[in-house]
Amino acid sequence: MLDDLDIRTALFVSLLVSFFFGIALTFYAYKHKRFCGIYTVAVGFILLGTGYILLALRNYIDDFLSILVANSMIYISIAVVLKGLLRFLDINVRGINQIAVVLILIFIGMLYFHTYVHPSVNARIIEGSAFCALFSLIAVYAFFRVRKAYDRLLMTFLIGVFSAFALLHGIRAVWTVTEAPLFDFMNAGTLSTMTVIASQIIASYTSLLIIWIASDTLENELATMVRTDPLTSTHNRRALEEYFNMEIARAIRKGRHFSVVVCDIDRFKSVNDKFGHQFGDEVLVQFATLLKQNVRQMDFVARYGGEEFVILLPETTRQQAAHIADKLRRRVMEHGMMAPDGTSLHITASFGVAESGLDGTDSDALLGAADTAMYEAKRQGRNRVVLAGAEP
Ligand code: GH3
Ligand code: MG
Ligand code: MG
Repeated sequence: MLDDLDIRTALFVSLLVSFFFGIALTFYAYKHKRFCGIYTVAVGFILLGTGYILLALRNYIDDFLSILVANSMIYISIAVVLKGLLRFLDINVRGINQIAVVLILIFIGMLYFHTYVHPSVNARIIEGSAFCALFSLIAVYAFFRVRKAYDRLLMTFLIGVFSAFALLHGIRAVWTVTEAPLFDFMNAGTLSTMTVIASQIIASYTSLLIIWIASDTLENELATMVRTDPLTSTHNRRALEEYFNMEIARAIRKGRHFSVVVCDIDRFKSVNDKFGHQFGDEVLVQFATLLKQNVRQMDFVARYGGEEFVILLPETTRQQAAHIADKLRRRVMEHGMMAPDGTSLHITASFGVAESGLDGTDSDALLGAADTAMYEAKRQGRNRVVLAGAEP
């Protein structure tokens, strides 16, 4: 059955596939300009399709076009697709551009030699396959050097597809060495037809991978965005709610300490009234930055609303949390900000501290206890830390 496959039909379908994905990716790149490399991949596919057209016209057009130009275009297109793909995946391999240019020139030189000086279809097939196998192996090498955490299955499959392509071309090259001299590429046989068909899989999978990774990237960004406060870049209330219950459950399950601090800027309304809302926003940003800079990596800072922030402190007792809160209180008090009238403004904040288990076993209860303690700090005169459960 496989013997009935003919190269010209395979080339015809492949050129359609290459053009289809080339044009589709061009539109995609136009719509999603922030992704790098997609245009380059698209150009590569269009070049490949053009090379296939010229190749499919063998015996109908001049050999110069259907052999020399066609194969050169295919060589270049493979390098261009790889360049775009690596750029899209943000993979850097030192010297790869220079290596690609040198390889292309060498292979075009050999192509010229085996077309005009010492014509041999077999030699051209062997060289073509060697080129494809070599570039596929370079691609596989580069894919192993990926730094970003893309979908594992997707990348494994990518490496598999390119390895299989390299293997197929390797087999074709070795096979052709043992074959009787061919006089027409259109009679090159099933293996050659298979390699042309296999290039459709490469084009399809590369395109699928690009769209898949782009949509994953957008989805991750959106997930981060909906959990981030746009003004202060701390976590927002939604993120807090998601994280809070998870952390309490973990602390209770593992018998660990877990504390929460609620803090609120003192007399913030007067800052707004005196210097304007815009400067008030700037104060909020600086306040949030101070909080983030003075807690550990594992701690969680969220804007609860207005000028009120919540800090979650895993592995921390109420006493330790009170110390941390007091350190924050001092840092806030000491931090001078340049007000619009040129004076130096110092703000203060009030803090309430509660610990899971002692002051509540769910986020609402714990937050309520810390909030009540914070209001007690306000009542006592502000700029202080009050522990939940402490005598007023
Ligand atoms: P207290 O010491 O009792 O906390 O007094 P306060 O003035 O800080 O508290 P109050 O709740 O009366 O006022 C909070 C103010 O915070 C009122 C509101 O205009 C301001 N505010 C809330 N969100 C923002 C914001 O995103 N930007 C700015 N600039 N102001 C905000
Ligand atoms: Mg306030
Ligand atoms: Mg408030």
